[in-house]
Amino acid sequence: QAKEDNASKLQFFNTGIQREFNYRQQLLAALRKVIKAESLEVYLQPQYQQLSTDSTLSCLGFEALLRWRDDELGWVSPAEFIPLAESQGLMPDLHRLVLDQVLVAIAELQRSAPDCSARVAINVSASQFKSPGFVEDIEERLRATGLSGKLIELEVTESMLIDDIERTAANMERLKTLGITFALDDFGTGYASLGYLKRLPLNSLKIDQSFIRDLHTNNSDEAIVRTVIALGKSLDLDIIAEGVETEEHLRKLQQMGCFRFQGYYFARPEPVSFWLKSETFANRS
Ligand code: C2E
Ligand code: MG
Ligand code: MG
Ligand code: MG
Repeated sequence: QAKEDNASKLQFFNTGIQREFNYRQQLLAALRKVIKAESLEVYLQPQYQQLSTDSTLSCLGFEALLRWRDDELGWVSPAEFIPLAESQGLMPDLHRLVLDQVLVAIAELQRSAPDCSARVAINVSASQFKSPGFVEDIEERLRATGLSGKLIELEVTESMLIDDIERTAANMERLKTLGITFALDDFGTGYASLGYLKRLPLNSLKIDQSFIRDLHTNNSDEAIVRTVIALGKSLDLDIIAEGVETEEHLRKLQQMGCFRFQGYYFARPEPVSFWLKSETFANRS
């Protein structure tokens, strides 16, 4: 009896793995197809800044976030397809697609949304950042479009700072000469040594949303956020909070001395066309 139970458990386990495997294969095939068709779309989510002297919030720029709506699979989250693309060497293709769409968006935003900085932040993964030609490609595209590097921010993560710090720092310095700025994304979730923060030309730290969610009720989250804000002050880095979903989050952050925000409380990521039409988003009070 026990033997049979185990056998059926194993059977169950195997079909689970089989299903998982099949889904992954289906996802991968679909991903290759949409990359080729360039039917993935960049959405933009605005970021706001409050000058501490008054309570008006002004638009600081946007973060570019990839969206994939598949005919058969429906919406597929980047949390699912980015790691897949990463493991299959597809990130350079995705990055090219994002950069193309972002540069077009920046030019359009400059024309039609004068109240908002058209600066767009792009997420880059470790493998892309170190891949040959990454820096040259950006240089080349900026030259071709005539856009200033000041309109681009790159969001990097702690994990990419861990190995080959020299190469990473050198690439960052080169991009910095074009006016490009750098934000350290998901700060607090990785394990980069704080010493790295000094060695890299970073402009800002993004406090990960996992520390914001329960900020008003969880003492250790509050302690972490306070520490990051203090770190930002002493290293002269801007601090921006991600995942600001409620007025409570906002008030708490303001009390703690954080004045840059991104999150559903203000706006969700939306297609570029949405922001081109929108006239009311730029400044909020
Ligand atoms: P991330 O860079 O940390 O992006 C922030 C994520 O938080 C986005 O999820 C955004 O939609 C979501 N978000 C924004 N405001 C709120 C909020 O108030 N509450 C909550 N719960 N979530 C909020 P998304 O778009 O699903 O992207 C997930 C991750 O996928 C990103 O995390 C980023 O690491 C990666 N990703 C997305 N687009 C790209 C891309 O073009 N290139 C690369 N390399 N990675 C990307
Ligand atoms: Mg990001
Ligand atoms: Mg983040
Ligand atoms: Mg994240």
